[in-house]
Formats: sequence, structure tokens, C-alpha cells
Amino acid sequence: MDFSLLVALFEKVSSTNKRLEILDFLSEFFIKIKENPEYSKNLEKIVYLMRGTLYPEILEQPKLGLAEKSLIDFLSRYYSVDLNKLKTHVRKSGDLGVTAESIARKLKSKKGQITSFIGIKEDTLSVSNIYQKLEEIAKISGAKSLDKKFSKLKWLLARSNPKMVKYIIKIILSNLRLRVADPTIMDSLAVAYFDNKAMRSEIERAYNVHPDLGYIARIIHEDGLKGLKEINIQVGTPIRMMLASRLNYTQIFPKLGGKNFVSEFKLDGERLQIHKNGNKVKIFSRKLKDISNQYPDVQKSVIDNIDADKAIIEGEAVAIDEFDEMLPFQVLITRKRKYDIEGTVKKVRVCVFIFDLLYLERNDNKEEVMDYPLLKRRSLLKEIIKQTDTIRIVKGKIINSTDELVEFFKESKLNRCEGLMNKSIDPDTSVYKAGNRGFLWIKLKSLEAGRLSDSIDAVVIGANWGKGRRANRFGALIVAVLNAKTGKFEMITRVASGFSDDDLDGFTETFKELTVTKKAENVICGEKLDVWFKPAVVVEIVGDELTVSSTADLGYSVRFPVFQRIRDDKGRDDITTVEEIKNLYEAQ
Ligand code: ATP
Repeated sequence: MDFSLLVALFEKVSSTNKRLEILDFLSEFFIKIKENPEYSKNLEKIVYLMRGTLYPEILEQPKLGLAEKSLIDFLSRYYSVDLNKLKTHVRKSGDLGVTAESIARKLKSKKGQITSFIGIKEDTLSVSNIYQKLEEIAKISGAKSLDKKFSKLKWLLARSNPKMVKYIIKIILSNLRLRVADPTIMDSLAVAYFDNKAMRSEIERAYNVHPDLGYIARIIHEDGLKGLKEINIQVGTPIRMMLASRLNYTQIFPKLGGKNFVSEFKLDGERLQIHKNGNKVKIFSRKLKDISNQYPDVQKSVIDNIDADKAIIEGEAVAIDEFDEMLPFQVLITRKRKYDIEGTVKKVRVCVFIFDLLYLERNDNKEEVMDYPLLKRRSLLKEIIKQTDTIRIVKGKIINSTDELVEFFKESKLNRCEGLMNKSIDPDTSVYKAGNRGFLWIKLKSLEAGRLSDSIDAVVIGANWGKGRRANRFGALIVAVLNAKTGKFEMITRVASGFSDDDLDGFTETFKELTVTKKAENVICGEKLDVWFKPAVVVEIVGDELTVSSTADLGYSVRFPVFQRIRDDKGRDDITTVEEIKNLYEAQ
């Protein structure tokens, strides 16, 4: 498919805020693909690009290694425009893609319509060309790598019209936020292929157990409803995780039906989804990335201690000391190294505390246990797991009242846990709901009034320089939460405490590649900041309480915010939402 067709779709989609209109544009586009074998060859790639990514989320996105600053330098040379003028333009437009488009347009009007300004016929790019070149760019490393990368980019730009230039730059800067959320893509596939929006639920079911919309679209295209229905759990493919809501401690017992429920220790570690297939074990993170190589010890423990031919289990990996006492998360993350994994594994011992079972295959008997009630899943866990000092079932207790909940909460804190995970044991409804954040699981991290009952995960949108001892380093990070309706990031607070000097040094490195000349388009922040970042890094903060604020864009602010940690395991779409902030405020 010609890239220009996709660009035309992107333009249409960006021209409206109305979800129904976007749905129509996408459905029409999928109908064209459905009817044209030439187009459908690129179906997966088109779906990934619509989501603003190059690959499905279960794979690492390629690191192109082209930051905004170096791209600005390159574009000034490539188009022979004054660097300062270009910088001013970007500051005004807020988007390098838009600036590049406008420069390319001016040059085109000077040099004529048919050929691009360096003489190659433009508009000849295909979607495959874009992919191939970007993958080549990502692979280049070593000496003179930047020059080599730019020569590939030149190849692309020389064959692009101004609109294409805009989107190529946006894709490179991972800035292609088209407000096309996954549910909209699923709705439009349902309309285009089944002429029935209600089919979205079947598509979503498949997506939850096989989180790759490109793959799902391909199956629907090739095999229709029959193929879609056959998409099922596969050991080795991560399942979208079930998530918890949060409530004030007095609301939990009534919300879980006013009768008994199970409360489990909430451990402060890393969530692992573990797939055992005979003697092979794969481990996936909260973001569904394969992190098996960070946990060779867990792989071994699973092989030695789980009695099943195949199984998918979930648990929390926690660092432990020589007395098997749990250590804080900060110790566990020292494992996140690329090198000397063996050495680190010896230094930082880990125990996985298992809390759920999603699939089980024993003696040729396959069980999709996700649909079993929680107590049955728990009892199966007890059957198959031999508990040792490296693998255990998480401690849980049946709770019958709010008083019992408070007592168990205190016990969890004495055991160095973060609090409790309270889970419904209703025989009919307490299934494992993949990809869902509902009220079957409710987390509880604090009982105190006047303290926020939960931490907030926010994305860093900028920083101010420090003073005194912190001169030349960032003194405060400015963070935002997600407005799920608009897809924008709304500033909530500035955080200036909770970091060590080492953290601050690390920030300089982390944010180097993310620094942009102007506030990003998808950021709402009325304040003037010293430095703006592309919203990408997620941090966890705690605070005393939420207050109503006339200066914060959101209308709420955090009293005494304190930085806890960077959340590598979360993407910017997984952060706390405006809706959740409102609920937290009301729950205070
Ligand atoms: P979320 O994963 O809900 O977006 P989060 O990553 O910020 O939120 P928390 O809000 O602290 O984490 O709580 C959810 C996480 O708690 C789970 O993703 C899991 O990693 C962890 N956890 C710890 N103990 C348990 C348990 N017993 N059952 C389920 N999850 C648990």
C-alpha cells in the first residue's frame, strides 16, 4: 500500500475529535483493505501504525536512536535552512513533524510539483518502505552511526511529499498520537468485517488472550469469525493482566458484597506472568514484555517446583534477605541490568509469591482455569506448587468484616508488605478478568486519614533546574496524569523531594533523549517550565492529600508530594487517570 493512503487517513482522523467520526474513517479504511488484496498485505503494519507504534505491544519497540535535537540539526542541513529559524519554528509549532512539513512545502513550491527538491520522484513510498528503513535505522550502531542513520532517513525524505515528511518525523519521535485507542480499532474491525459493532466483544476477548491487534486483524481478514473464535490462550503468549481498583478501607467490605472475601498480602515487588511449557519457562512483565532473562532463578524454581505439563501463573517477585525477610522494591530493581545477570542473581535473592492461575495442562487434560472462581484457582495452585524458599503462594485470609480487614492490614504492614489486595470469592463472578480493572480486586495501601490512600503514577512532562546544591541538576520534576477521554496529560503537581543525588544524576541521563524544545501537543500545563520533556517516563509519587487548586490545570493538586521511584514497568497509557484522581479526592 502507498504510504500516501495511510497519511490521508491520518489527516482525516486528526481533523476531528469526535469518536464516531474517527470510527467511520477507520471502518471505511478497513473495508478498502478487506476488498483489496494489494492493501491487505500490509494489514498488520497498518494496525500498528494506527496505534502509533511500529510493533505490537508484546514486543520491544525498536530504538531508533534519533532524538529531537539531532533531528533538528539534520533537518536544518538537509533543507539548508538556518538552524535558529528552524528552532524558532519548532518552538512555535510545538511539533517537529509540523515544522518539517511546512519547510518541505515551501521548498516544493519553489522547485515545482513533480519532483522533490533533490530531483527524485516523490510520493513513491510504500508502507513497507517505511518499515524497512526504520528497522534498518534501529539496527545501526557503532562508529558514525548517526551519519549512517541520517543517510537512510534522507532516502525516505527524498521520496516523500510534505505531508509524508510530517508523519515520518512524528513516527521517528514516537509522537504519532492519533487519538485512535485500541477500543476504536476493535470497533472499526467489527464494523468493517462483520458489519456489526457488537462483535467488538469477541474481538476484545481474543485481544485479551493474544495482545497483538495486528495479528487479530490478520486472523479476522483470513479466517473470519471462525478464526477469531479459535484465538485462545497459548502458553508463551502473554495475557493482558487483570488489575485492581482502589477504595477507602471502609468501602471494601460492602463493595465486595458485604460477605466474606479473601484478602491477600500486597507485596512490593514486580508482577510476573509465568508461562511453563515442559522444561521451558517464559516470564512476562506488567507491560507484557518478555523479561525471562532477568529471572533465571525463577525459571529454575518453576521447573523444579510446579507439577504441571503446562501452566500460566501470576505472582509478585520480591527480593529477600538471608533470613527470608522481604526487602523493598529498590533492592529488586538492582536486578534490572543488562550485564552480569548471573552475578546480580546471586547478590539479590528473589522469592515469587504466586497469587493466581490462568491455565493448566496435566495428564493431557487442558483447563482454562481463568473462568473458575478464585477459591478453586487457589486450591489448584496448592495442588501443583511445592512451596520452597524461592516460590510460595501469597498469604491470604478469609475476611468477614471491616474490623478483620483492619487487623489483617496491620499484620501485612508488620510483614513489610505494601498493604492488602482484597478479592471477591463469589462462586459465580470471581473469574480472572483479563485486561480488566474492575472491583473484583480492590487494593488497600493506607488506613490513615489525611494521607492519600494510594500512590499516584504520573508521567514526567518537564523539569525546573535546581538551586544551591542541586545547581546543574533538576530540582523539581513536573508531572501529569492522563485524561482518558482526551488522551492528554494534565499537570497535577511538581515533585521536589524524595530523590537522592544518585537519582538526580540518573535523571539527567534518562531525560536527555526526551528533551523537546516546546511543550508537547498532548500536554496541558499552564506553567512555564525550564525544560520540557516528551511525556514518556512514569514515576510513582505519594502525598499527604489531594487539594483543590486553582493553579493546577487539573483543578486538583497534591500536598507534600514525594517521589518514590521510576516505574519502568508502566507505559504512559497505564498511569493514574483524571477520573481516578477525582475518586481519590472524594474518598479522602
Ligand atoms: P496497577 O497494576 O493496578 O496499574 P500499580 O502497578 O501501580 O497498579 P498497585 O496499584 O500498587 O500497582 O497494585 C497492583 C499491583 O500489585 C499488581 O499489578 C501486582 O503487581 C501487585 N500485587 C502485589 N500483591 C498482589 C496480590 N496478592 N494480588 C495481586 N496483585 C498483587
